[in-house]
Amino acid sequence: MNTATSRAEPSAPRLFSVDAVDPGSCARGGRIATAHGTVETPNFMPVATAGTVKGITPAQLEEAGAQIVLANTYHLALRPGVDLVETQGGLHRFMGWPGPILTDSGGYQVFSLASLRKVSEEGVDFRSHVDGARLALTPEDVVTLQLRLGVDILMPLDECLPAPVDRGDAERAAARTLRWARRSQVVERGDDHVLFGIVQGGVFADLRRQCVAELVALGFPGYAVGGLSVGEAIEMTRDVAAATAAAVPAGAPRYLMGVGRPEDLLRFVGMGYDLFDCVLPTRNGRNGMLFTWDGPVNIRLARHARDPEPVDAACGCYACRTFSRAYLRHLAVSGEMLGPQLASLHNLYFYLDLMRQMRARIAAGTFASWAAQQIARIEEGAAT
Ligand SMILES: [Zn+2]
Repeated sequence: MNTATSRAEPSAPRLFSVDAVDPGSCARGGRIATAHGTVETPNFMPVATAGTVKGITPAQLEEAGAQIVLANTYHLALRPGVDLVETQGGLHRFMGWPGPILTDSGGYQVFSLASLRKVSEEGVDFRSHVDGARLALTPEDVVTLQLRLGVDILMPLDECLPAPVDRGDAERAAARTLRWARRSQVVERGDDHVLFGIVQGGVFADLRRQCVAELVALGFPGYAVGGLSVGEAIEMTRDVAAATAAAVPAGAPRYLMGVGRPEDLLRFVGMGYDLFDCVLPTRNGRNGMLFTWDGPVNIRLARHARDPEPVDAACGCYACRTFSRAYLRHLAVSGEMLGPQLASLHNLYFYLDLMRQMRARIAAGTFASWAAQQIARIEEGAAT
């Protein structure tokens, strides 16, 4: 990124550019430029909640094709603490990842993990789930913490409600999220740290559209869609996600937070989403579930005990190039620590390869029919 040009014209820096639009869907291919490198979109962010993608080194991430990772402000603020990360040279240096980093604000974690939580207009007051220490965070604090971590893309504090949420509560939470977004914007940042707006509004498409319109009026360079896939039916997630994506201006990146399975990502890219994160590749990997183009494989099953074939013959990852299903099953049922590491590596490679292939199909203008075929293939495999 040419920061000299960005600084000369503060209103001009080009965060996002669209290079290709699929003729058969709303999918688009583009690039997000950050101070630590460019992210080709659509793309998937491996989840490094506590400053580490569990069991995977940054070198392995790079080899798997990761271009950006997601860390979590709440977790890092509680342990090891933002002071410590700052004195170690910032999060990039601390975790040994030189590429772009996006941090979630921790709003979701405050609402899901912290105890004795009090939410007021000022911010959130809670007890740490790590050591019980009492903490208070305002929307301004949350931006400042992310700036001190030194990350590239920041998320404002938002109010996340667990599903099911009635309309009145969803409306109040979305309104508060908007007021917090406005306060977050005021914190001085500089061009190298980009703040997205977060769309809330529960499962109510009209509330979501209204929330987008108000965020757009405030003028954010990118928009994250939060509070979906939190327990509602998948059909509901899809309908609300589609309506929300359509409301966000085409010139801004759209980030769908915390979603989802491979077949979901194929659908959401078709709606025009550009950025995703999800714990499934690593969490499911640790449980012996491996993603493939023919649906998920439970490597712990006895049927793999003598199988000399790799998990996925089409996969180029180190695990598939080197080991058989029989060996991976042996590791999983023996509780060997290499098992979850190789499974996570394969799953991340699969997700990143899925995104690469989506980008290639969008560039070729053949995304829609190809994605429909892959969804059918994965869902057929999952059913068997
Ligand atoms: Zn593999």
